[in-house]
Amino acid sequence: MESPKPVPCLADYGDVVGPEVIEEIRVLARRVEGRRMQNINSTPVGGGVAEILTRLVPLLNEVGVQARWDVMRGDNAFFAVTKAFHNALHGNKETITDQMLDVFRATTAMNLQHLDLGDDVIWIHDPQPAGLVDKRDQAGRKWVWRCHIDVSAPDPRVWNFLEPWIRRYDASIFSMPEFARQLSIPQFMVTPSIDPLAEKNRELGALEITAVLEKYGIDPQRPVLTQISRFDRLKDPLGVIKSYQLVKRRHDCQLVLAGGGATDDPEGAEVLAEVQKAAADDRDIKVLLLPPFSDYEINALVRGSTIVFQKSIREGFGLTVSEALWKGVPVIGGAVGGIRVQVIDGVTGFLVHSPEGGARAAARLLEDAELRRHMGENGRSHVRQNFLITRHLKDYLLVMLALEYPEDDVVTLQ
Ligand code: UDP
Repeated sequence: MESPKPVPCLADYGDVVGPEVIEEIRVLARRVEGRRMQNINSTPVGGGVAEILTRLVPLLNEVGVQARWDVMRGDNAFFAVTKAFHNALHGNKETITDQMLDVFRATTAMNLQHLDLGDDVIWIHDPQPAGLVDKRDQAGRKWVWRCHIDVSAPDPRVWNFLEPWIRRYDASIFSMPEFARQLSIPQFMVTPSIDPLAEKNRELGALEITAVLEKYGIDPQRPVLTQISRFDRLKDPLGVIKSYQLVKRRHDCQLVLAGGGATDDPEGAEVLAEVQKAAADDRDIKVLLLPPFSDYEINALVRGSTIVFQKSIREGFGLTVSEALWKGVPVIGGAVGGIRVQVIDGVTGFLVHSPEGGARAAARLLEDAELRRHMGENGRSHVRQNFLITRHLKDYLLVMLALEYPEDDVVTLQ
């Protein structure tokens, strides 16, 4: 395995997005230089939020924002509660007891005691740490609730519990207009992004890709269908197995389901066991439990795939989709959440509503190498234009700037 490249700096992105984009970021950054920005979420690894913060925080620092990232503490009981909240906010039916609400309040209070909250802007990611805003009168000048999930049709019990906290923020950020809801505070829209120079996305040589496939017992000569996801029911790994089984009747192929756990997702082990059971009789299905920081392996697995699935039943943005499209691999995605803005149906991949639909889309792609190549090119250019980290960095700087001029419609950057 090649040793990892040094951490990229902002100028390195000029080769990917053009120098004018970098210059624009620097001009904006000068207006918020020296501001202290604290990000707080609930897991240091696993899942899209940690993935984004890992890269965005160093880049913010490079352009002069004093950004830091803290992870709130919580025990298994708390994360079981927040996982239920997560599912309920996505519109799933969950039983939420008074005791669960107490666990949430108690963990919030415990974190308020040990977290040092003093920065100019406090950026709270997702519902788990949302209650920290209780400290707003004593700490931080501006509080931003950065919501990565779709809360447009939540279970009212959970939403009504969280909403009094949300109302106390200076602003909220949602990933897509469809995810937002009527709020009394300003709302900004910022789509997530991927880092093209990160270990997970950088270019790899053919030999490197083959070596990783072979390490996991995957035959590089035969088509590979892959889904990279936490083992989570909302990611529908069993539905992916069903699609694969249907398509396999007529097309030789292999299936890779690769994922790890997130420390804030206690359901993972149970779902993994269900997946292993469903895959047990088929040697062409590889269920890979990846340790954290398997970025190089994930990069190679995706690049070595013929098709990537992200057949979620509900989804926030779904970073794995952009990660695959960037590598020129067409994606079959569930027609939910942010997958719908990344998979343009028939252009960068196919949107599907069922395992049968997934199988039909896979068959079409497996039969047509030219279609795959064409969609792969479209996907890469769609990501270049919309979902790279440079655009994300610029959007965050713009939100910071907007927070400093809450009354102004126009801010002159000179
Ligand atoms: N990921 C990973 N290891 C795994 C599974 C996922 O590094 O075993 C990464 C994946 O590549 C992506 C992120 O975790 O960058 C998942 O983000 P996404 O928005 O797709 O889903 P989430 O887990 O946040 O619901």
